Amino acid sequence: MKIITEIAEMKEFSHNLKKAEKKISFVPTMGKLHDGHVKLIESAKRYGETVVSIFVNPLQFGQGEDFDKYPRDIKIDEKILSDLAVPVLFYPASDIVENTDTFIVNPEYSKKLEGLFRPSHFQGVLTIVMKLFCIVEPDFAFFGLKDYQQFALIKKMAEDFFLNVKIIPVETVREESGIAMSSRNTYLDGAGKETASAFYKILLTTSDLFKKGEKSAEKLTGFVIKELIKKGFKVDYVEITDSALNRKYSDAENGDILLAAIRYKGVRLIDNIFLS
Ligand code: AMP
Repeated sequence: MKIITEIAEMKEFSHNLKKAEKKISFVPTMGKLHDGHVKLIESAKRYGETVVSIFVNPLQFGQGEDFDKYPRDIKIDEKILSDLAVPVLFYPASDIVENTDTFIVNPEYSKKLEGLFRPSHFQGVLTIVMKLFCIVEPDFAFFGLKDYQQFALIKKMAEDFFLNVKIIPVETVREESGIAMSSRNTYLDGAGKETASAFYKILLTTSDLFKKGEKSAEKLTGFVIKELIKKGFKVDYVEITDSALNRKYSDAENGDILLAAIRYKGVRLIDNIFLS
């Protein structure tokens, strides 16, 4: 596997792939790779020459968030990627964000859901993804549905700027207990993971209530909040929205999405489930 750290070298590598009429499939990550990332990479490999990036992006962490302690393990990540026969790892240094004066914002979407609790988060995400797109020039880019709002914002950014990249969503990969895989799960011990697994179970039960005929968004979200609190979770938000993230105040419909963020023992977890 080729490891590229220089921006100029990555650009040249991508240009050469394009000259050879190869399609570029791109998977941006912050590393500490797990099976969720692996699923993105496996999907990407079906579409073209796969570039995976690893960069813990300081722009998307707010003050007091976990940038310093965010799990990093580049040696293990390299092993995972070479076992997957990924041809290129782009592992940029901090010069990719230093001295940035221009930022991408979506004022409307960034104010909702995660945006209310992490005000500069999506500005940081969109800015780094745009930078990475400018360097890697992918034809396809893969994002996990676990971070649904992130996926929706990046898709909208690609549309708004007429980018030549197709944004492809990938299903959430879960541990056996149901908990969505996340690099931050390493913050939880065994007992913590056990308790946290109730989060998705509550979402599943709510989706069953919807299937059985309960359509009131207020009742469904009320049920989720009550059950989460019973388990000892602190609730940041629970909302039912349409796929464009417009909040439902009345009835939930097929294809809507229930999104939630909770805190447990200082660890923040997000998850979602489509209602159908
Ligand atoms: P991260 O390294 O956490 O920034 O995530 C990189 C990409 O992997 C993002 O597109 C995430 O949405 C995606 N991802 C993270 N966890 C999962 C998961 N459990 N299942 C599917 N995709 C995921």
